[in-house]
Amino acid sequence: MAPGARTVLLLGGSTEATQLARLVAASGDIELTVSFAGRTAERAPMPEGVSVRVGGFGGSAGLQRHLETTAVDALVDATHPFSSRMPFHAATAADAAGRPRLRVLRRPWVTQAGDRWTVVSSVAEAAAAVDASGAGPVLLTIGRQELAPFAGCTSAQLVVRCIEAPEPGVLDGAQIILARGPFTVEDEIALLRRHHIELVVSKNAGGPATEAKLAAARRLGLPVVMIERPPAPDGPTVATAAEAMAWLDAALLERVSR
Ligand code: NAP
Repeated sequence: MAPGARTVLLLGGSTEATQLARLVAASGDIELTVSFAGRTAERAPMPEGVSVRVGGFGGSAGLQRHLETTAVDALVDATHPFSSRMPFHAATAADAAGRPRLRVLRRPWVTQAGDRWTVVSSVAEAAAAVDASGAGPVLLTIGRQELAPFAGCTSAQLVVRCIEAPEPGVLDGAQIILARGPFTVEDEIALLRRHHIELVVSKNAGGPATEAKLAAARRLGLPVVMIERPPAPDGPTVATAAEAMAWLDAALLERVSR
C-alpha cells in the first residue's frame, strides 16, 4: 500500500460491492475494509490486500464510533437493494462523523411489453396477493430470510428457489430448490415448466444475474408479483461499481487537498 493511502469502509452484500472491491484493490492506493452482516455461510472471495470484517456495528451510533476510531476517510454502502436498515444507519453515522458517503444501488427492473406484474410494497402484501390469486404452484424467488409470511398461503403449492436452505420450521411444506444465479432464460423456462408454475414472486432486486426469470415469465405469459424496494435515505447514489470508483477517487482527492 502506498504511503498516505486513504482508508475506505465498504458495506458489502451486493454484486456491486464485490466488483468495487476488485476495482479498489487494482487501484493500489486505497486501504479497503469490506464489512458483511454475516448472514450467509459462503461469501464472494475478496482480492488480496482487502480486509474483511463480519457482523453488525451496533446501530448508527456503533458505526459512527467505528468510522471515528478507525479513521475511515469515506464510507461506501453497497448493501443489497432490499437492505432496509443499514443504508439509514450508514447515512446517519457518516454524516455525524463528517465522512463522505455513497450508496451503490443498481437500477430496478422495469416492465416491458407482455409483462403481467402486480406490484406490491412488502413481502406481507406479496403473500396476501399469492393467497388471493388462487394460483396453483407458485415460485418464490425472494431469498430465504423472509419466507414466514407465506406460511399463511394455504391454497398454493409453494416452490422456493434460494441460494442457502431456509431455517428448519420456516415454510416446511414448500419444495426447496437450491441454486445460485446467473440463470439463462432457457433454464428459467425449463424450471417454470418442470414445476408447472402459475405465478412467480420476486423482489425488484434489479441487475442481470436473476433477470432471466422475468423474461421467462413473459415468454410463458405468467403473472409476477413484484415486491418494490424499501425506502432509501437521500444522498449521493450511483448505480454501478465503476461509478462508485470514480466517486471514491474524487472524494479521497478532496480530503487529501483539505
Ligand atoms: P438490514 O435490515 O439493512 O440490516 C440489518 C442489520 O444487519 C443492520 O442494522 C446491521 O447491524 C447489520 N448489517 C447489515 N449489513 C451489514 C454489513 N454490510 N456489515 C455489517 N453489518 C451489517 O439488512 P438485511 O436485509 O437484514 O440484510 C443483511 C445483509 O444481507 C445486508 O448486508 C444485505 O446487503 C445482505 N442481503 C440482503 C438481502 C435482502 O433481500 N434483504 C438480499 C441479499 C443480501 P447493526 O445495526 O448492528 O450495525
